[in-house]
Amino acid sequence: MNKNKIAQFRTQLESVRSELLGEVEKSNQFMKESETGQIADISDDAARTYNRQLEGELGEQEWKKLKQVELAIKKMDDGEYGVCAQCEETIPEARLKIVPYTEFCTQCLEEMEKNPKATSVTEPDSFEEN
Ligand SMILES: [Zn+2]
Repeated sequence: MNKNKIAQFRTQLESVRSELLGEVEKSNQFMKESETGQIADISDDAARTYNRQLEGELGEQEWKKLKQVELAIKKMDDGEYGVCAQCEETIPEARLKIVPYTEFCTQCLEEMEKNPKATSVTEPDSFEEN
């Protein structure tokens, strides 16, 4: 994926993130994020407090989404954005456009939905011999 596209997705991700964070941080300090453009140089303690605070104020769905968004941004920094965390195939851009913070390709996601407990192991349906 070229840098321009990554930059576009990053903008998208960052706006999703500030939307989510905006809900809890309206009256709070906005960490050091507004200064540096990214979460940086916060101690473990500060990060834990921050996470707890957010976790308490965001619903479970929003919290999960936020984590996915942050992971996706981190992957961009690592040059691994757009790669399925399960099968390591490239996630189609069409899918990323809809869900830019997705971790998995459509195929893996479907598998997981069919098999929520076994993400990587395919369990044969109890089939009997003969
Ligand atoms: Zn996959």
